[in-house]
Amino acid sequence: MIIGSGPAGYTAGVYAARALLDPILIQGVQPGGQLTITTEVENWPGLCEVQGPELMEQMAAHARKAGTELINDHIKKLDLNNKPFVAHADSGNLYSSDAIILATGAQAKWLGLPSEDYFKGFGVSACATCDGFFFRGSDIVVVGGGNTAVEEALFLTKFAKTVTLIHRRDSLRAEKILQKRLFDNPKIKIVWFSELVEVLGSSSPKSVQGVKIKNVKSGKVSELECSGVFIAIGHAPASELVSDQLELRAGGYVVTKADSTETSIRGVFAAGDLTDDKYRQAVTSAGMGCMAALEAEKYLADLN
Ligand code: FAD
Ligand code: NAP
Repeated sequence: MIIGSGPAGYTAGVYAARALLDPILIQGVQPGGQLTITTEVENWPGLCEVQGPELMEQMAAHARKAGTELINDHIKKLDLNNKPFVAHADSGNLYSSDAIILATGAQAKWLGLPSEDYFKGFGVSACATCDGFFFRGSDIVVVGGGNTAVEEALFLTKFAKTVTLIHRRDSLRAEKILQKRLFDNPKIKIVWFSELVEVLGSSSPKSVQGVKIKNVKSGKVSELECSGVFIAIGHAPASELVSDQLELRAGGYVVTKADSTETSIRGVFAAGDLTDDKYRQAVTSAGMGCMAALEAEKYLADLN
């Protein structure tokens, strides 16, 4: 059983099916995973440019054609203490298997401000691709300094009048090529050494009208008018299903053995962003999906 339908899950599906393991793959509430909420992917080898959702549809088709059964369901509970392993799904179905590949990926992080929570879906978002369209001709704020924040800021210039990137330091984590595009874009302004401390707006109709930002060096608080706020400060691994069953490390990532996808329970393998706080790329996730399937094949062969 493979849980998760991002690059790690689908790649595991291709390899496990070709090893004639009769795999099932539970897709979860986001079939295709994180790349379905982005636009151009420019670093998938062999394709100079491809749309994220299109790439993931191709991976799904590939896994299905190889022989993996794709199941549109979400796992709410997993029992790894007994064998075969049993997964309890939202549909009420139970799925069982002799080996499991966990590929549940990661989810967007939030700042944790009450005002952020209050305006979520009413001007506060963590997905520019999903919500950017609603902010045509508006002033928009993006928070963060990694690849996601820079890509979101660039994407939002298609709709926005202005985009202000707020970052807590004075240098970005994003790849240099993305930084260059950001600095060269006349619609984008960057506010360094600053944190968003409150989202401002009205309650009827519920809408964002600005943000309060604090300079982390001087402590000075100022206000900025905007009607959209995009939080792009990274992702947390989706390890809730196994947090009390498998060894995890700081940040909630599933621990795997060196050069392997084996977890602390035999027969349970983990791949992709669920285990990876370093590379977090589609291609590295796919690579780990391949490793997990090969290791599951060997594990199952050794059982017989
Ligand atoms: P994910 O893609 O996170 O997929 C996780 C899967 O698990 C989902 O299908 C979800 O439905 C499923 N799932 C979760 N919980 C459950 C459950 N309980 N039951 C069943 N299923 C479950 N990387 C690049 O290499 N190039 C890029 O251009 C790029 N652009 C990006 C743009 C954005 C906006 C973001 C957010 C990320 C981007 N990345 C990019 C990073 C890349 O998307 C991830 O590294 C990759 O998707 C991780 O793959 P994954 O298979 O580990 O998991
Ligand atoms: P990330 O690389 O972890 O960057 C998160 C950013 O948010 C950092 O700049 C961080 O600041 C900031 N931040 C974190 N917590 C914060 C908080 N509480 N308040 C204010 N700022 C905060 O995350 P990401 O950009 O989402 O990228 C995740 C992974 O996906 C990366 O490996 C990335 O390479 C990959 N990805 C790749 C592409 C691509 O290849 N084109 C596109 C998108 C994502 P500090 O810098 O100060 O820590």
